[in-house]
Amino acid sequence: MPTTDTDFMDTASIPDSFYSMLKEVWGFEELRGMQSDAIAANLAGHDSLVVMPTGGGKSLCYQAPAVFRGGLTLVVSPLIALMKDQVDSLESCGVPAARIDSSLALDEKRRIVDRLANRQLKLLFVSPERLVDPGFVKLVQGNTIHTIAVDEAHCVSQWGHDFRPEYRQLAQIRKVFPEASIHAFTATATPKVRQDIVEQLQLRSPKVLVSSFDRPNLTYRILPQSDIVDQVREVLDRYRGQGGIVYCLRRTDVESLCQILGVHGYSVVPYHAGLSADERKRAQDAFINETADVVVATVAFGMGIDRPDVRFVVHTCMPKTIEHYQQETGRAGRDGEPAECVLLFSMGDMIALKRMTERSLIEAGAPEALIEAQRTQLEEMARYCRTPVCRHRALAEYFGESYTAPNCQACDVCLGDTDSVENAKQVAQKILSCISRVGEKFGVNYIVDVLTGSSTADIERRNHHSLSTYGLMKETPKRQLKDWIYQLIGQGAVTLEGDQYPILKLNAASREILFGAAEPRLIQSAVKNDRRTTRSPSAMNDFEYDRKLFEALRTLRRNLAAERQLPPYIILSDRSLAELSACRPSTREGLLAISGIGQAKVDAYGEVVLAAIASYCQDAGVSFDQPLPIAASSRETSLRGSRSAIGGSSVAARNREAVRKCLDQGMPLADVSAKTQLSNGTITKYLAEFLESGEIHQIDAWIPNATQIQVLEAANRVGRERLKPIFEELQQQIPYDDIRIVLAWDQAQSRVASE
Ligand code: ADP
Ligand code: ZN
Repeated sequence: MPTTDTDFMDTASIPDSFYSMLKEVWGFEELRGMQSDAIAANLAGHDSLVVMPTGGGKSLCYQAPAVFRGGLTLVVSPLIALMKDQVDSLESCGVPAARIDSSLALDEKRRIVDRLANRQLKLLFVSPERLVDPGFVKLVQGNTIHTIAVDEAHCVSQWGHDFRPEYRQLAQIRKVFPEASIHAFTATATPKVRQDIVEQLQLRSPKVLVSSFDRPNLTYRILPQSDIVDQVREVLDRYRGQGGIVYCLRRTDVESLCQILGVHGYSVVPYHAGLSADERKRAQDAFINETADVVVATVAFGMGIDRPDVRFVVHTCMPKTIEHYQQETGRAGRDGEPAECVLLFSMGDMIALKRMTERSLIEAGAPEALIEAQRTQLEEMARYCRTPVCRHRALAEYFGESYTAPNCQACDVCLGDTDSVENAKQVAQKILSCISRVGEKFGVNYIVDVLTGSSTADIERRNHHSLSTYGLMKETPKRQLKDWIYQLIGQGAVTLEGDQYPILKLNAASREILFGAAEPRLIQSAVKNDRRTTRSPSAMNDFEYDRKLFEALRTLRRNLAAERQLPPYIILSDRSLAELSACRPSTREGLLAISGIGQAKVDAYGEVVLAAIASYCQDAGVSFDQPLPIAASSRETSLRGSRSAIGGSSVAARNREAVRKCLDQGMPLADVSAKTQLSNGTITKYLAEFLESGEIHQIDAWIPNATQIQVLEAANRVGRERLKPIFEELQQQIPYDDIRIVLAWDQAQSRVASE
């Protein structure tokens, strides 16, 4: 085994100097979730397979070690657009990075060759076929290549949804770069795909790190469809000036919705496969550069869209499958900040969708089994919409994960947006008996007309105005009644038969309800009006910030981006803007305390940002250098920190405080991690700090006495400078985190003793 300067590291140990680098370069205080395990594996030179949801922060897992370790890290990526984005973003943090692809001009290529020869690059992005090309290998030869990162690694597997034959060539990496460790990253991997990635890339006993794929920052809402335009506008109004996607079923729906929204003054562009390549590119650019806020699109829109600050996704029609729903909603909140996904459900749409897909499958000559499978998936999606259980839980369980939180605080069901109808049984009985009275010969609209007592020519001609059920529900709005009927259909309490003119028919379940033997569940489609109060009015729901200043900074960001021909999100993230608007720093140090602002960004934009804040504060008569406030309504209310001046103000301080509160109660570390969403590594780091600073005095709650003694004895034998020898001495039986804690405690004890 070659020894390198990072040889002593193992998965639980990331040196403090790494965190300093992280703060200086990226302006980040912490690693999130599994990032620390992934990074530790990278630093230790272990191969790894990292499965994290979109927005989980996969790129940092190879970018940060690349910067920290030196040498050259090669990154394989399937799309030029993705590579370009990553390189831009790294350069904006002052990290020397480049990409080689077919779109480069000759002089650009030459410059990269020079930089490679001078070993100036830390990261180089390439396509899979280029990576194993002998010419390329020669080009990078003079550089030390510790690691190779394979992004979107599921592309290697034909079992995945995005198989790319060129990824198969990656099987040769091992031969071509035998010294390098290989790190594969993906957001979507079934066990089969996962296995395939390990085999295809010939990973050597890799660390396999699989995060929960739940996206806690997304709030899911499924509302009964009523007036689509009104419903879409309700969402757009809440997110004025912010990025969002509205999905429609058909191209014509896109066109008409876009037109109406445009008339009402919303900043929208259409996108669908019927537009020319040029028009599509223009729409996409407008969205990325924030000259348009909202894209109204068919599902053709989304692939290769890297805008991370999409704050909402609206589905005006149900997606075909739960997988589609997950993927399409997944485009919201990729920056990890709160975002909302609203689906407007209608049973009528579901039926239309079913017919459309069946027809196109039949026309394509698909086998019956496939059509059946499609039908089942659609029904599953409809059930997901109809069933009033936590959306996060239902999604997690659909994908085979368990979800333990009793209330996600981030879906319509848990937030109490929808109310059950109290007398659902009577309502259902009225509907069903009306269907029976008209001889089970009519569709939904007709039944609604009879029940609400409409006086139409048809009803009079058929003498249905003399039925006992005529006008029986005249107090109920038609839209509501229609939705209830579709809810009953969704539960199988009544059947809709026939293709051209679907007719309502009673079935066995209907009879049970009519005779009082079964109880259906109906929900109120009227959305509670206090919905707005369930979330903070601003994008980040864990603290309040000055909306006007945010807008001013957003304009500044857009201008800076246009000057530099970069997307605005590369200049500064929404999180950074929000923290700036809340804290209003007046100094460069103040800027550095903001999440996402490192040294390079202060150097590049510090002055203009400070000037904009100063001028705003003067005009508005508000003060500078405020601590980050925390919203009372926030999900993180319990994380309220005790921060004062801006110098010490950061999310980290809040996290630290939250961890201390939990530890003060002797809470097990796993529970602290679940509660605070911080990794074990971070919590251990804090615990060590608390022990050192004397804020916590004992460790019996977390480390059994026998283990404490074992560790201390081992440390006495092999020394305390490095953890690895102690770990080895203990036959690798005691985790690094535990060793760290015991040593920190022991050191604090001996200091107290000597004082
Ligand atoms: P993925 O590739 O997994 O979809 P990204 O790597 O694009 O996710 O990261 C998502 C967002 O989270 C980015 O805006 C990134 O800057 C941010 N991010 C990643 N790691 C951290 C961190 N440790 N602290 C703060 N922000 C982070
Ligand atoms: Zn929920």
